Amino acid sequence: MRKSLIAAVMPLAVLCSHAVGGNLSASVKPVLMGDNARLPKIAIITTGGTIAQKKDETGAAVPAVSGVALISAVPDLLTKANVEIYSLCNEDSSRIKPEVWLRLAKLVDKLVKRKDISGVIVTHGTDTMAEAAFFVDACTSTKKPVVFVGAMRDASDMSPDGPENIMNAMVQAVSPDAKGWGVTVTLNQFVNSAYTVRKTNTNNVETFNSGESGYLGYISTGKVIKYNRPMQDICIGLPEKLEQRVELFMSYAGCDGKAIRRAVDSGVKGLVIEAVGSGNVQENVYKAIKYAKSKGVVVVVTTCVPDGPMIPAYGGPGGGATMAKEGIILSRYLRARKARLLLMLALSNKMPEDQIAKLFQH
Ligand code: ASP
Repeated sequence: MRKSLIAAVMPLAVLCSHAVGGNLSASVKPVLMGDNARLPKIAIITTGGTIAQKKDETGAAVPAVSGVALISAVPDLLTKANVEIYSLCNEDSSRIKPEVWLRLAKLVDKLVKRKDISGVIVTHGTDTMAEAAFFVDACTSTKKPVVFVGAMRDASDMSPDGPENIMNAMVQAVSPDAKGWGVTVTLNQFVNSAYTVRKTNTNNVETFNSGESGYLGYISTGKVIKYNRPMQDICIGLPEKLEQRVELFMSYAGCDGKAIRRAVDSGVKGLVIEAVGSGNVQENVYKAIKYAKSKGVVVVVTTCVPDGPMIPAYGGPGGGATMAKEGIILSRYLRARKARLLLMLALSNKMPEDQIAKLFQH
């Protein structure tokens, strides 16, 4: 990137404060790149992840590349759009907290409402990218492309995947064919809906897919090829503050449910229980769920099985059909981590339980 393309809208001290490390700065000022009046404007929000990491002297990847340096490393981006870069944080996504995603969602919401912005790209670590994208999708509503992108190989790798992934995200962000997809996770040429996407491989560049729902599209040679429409678009709006006391537990062979009861006694507001199969839990977990409900805690049951709608079919204490009959919310499609975020957002927005139940029927 030629320096002259960077419009100096922020003092150097502010630039440095965003460069590397975990802290969120109080207000994020953009750095502008590109001044071609014929091109659209795309906002790029950087948050860290492997895409912005390099190996240290021990060989472990650590945050090392500032948002501006990350984007500057792909000068071809400016053949597609002028960009505004917002360096929100530089954090491994395994350490990111939901309040960062709330700040991110608020920024995305503000940017997509601007007439001069055609789309938003978010760079993020892949460990929790599926959750982050879902969180932002649930908080915002826009026809403009909002594209999450990252990398499986760090910036010091002999063959990093970050630059091409960012370029493909840009292709999608400026493409008229990519409108109305909601928030997507776009890596390794494949476009996934935030609602369905999951990380499936710890190490390989081909890690994100949407299981039985399939990809939304494919990006190749500077073009977006459409395969599909998103199966769902949940928008419950942006809360001012987050209800944090939503816990996640799983049911497993011999689980006594005591941890769930302790969480209830400690004042938790919402609980997500990861069941097995089509939503069946151990009897002790079932009893703990009933205890939670008797104390006014909103409980959502999901499953550890990656694919298939969760259709309650079994009776007996802890069977999905038994719990459904008793008004316990069974999440038809969303799995545990995203279900927890949706419950957190619903409780933050003070939704009554019957409305919350409807959110999980999609
Ligand atoms: N640990 C990294 C992160 O989630 C993994 C990645 O970005 O690929 O930040």
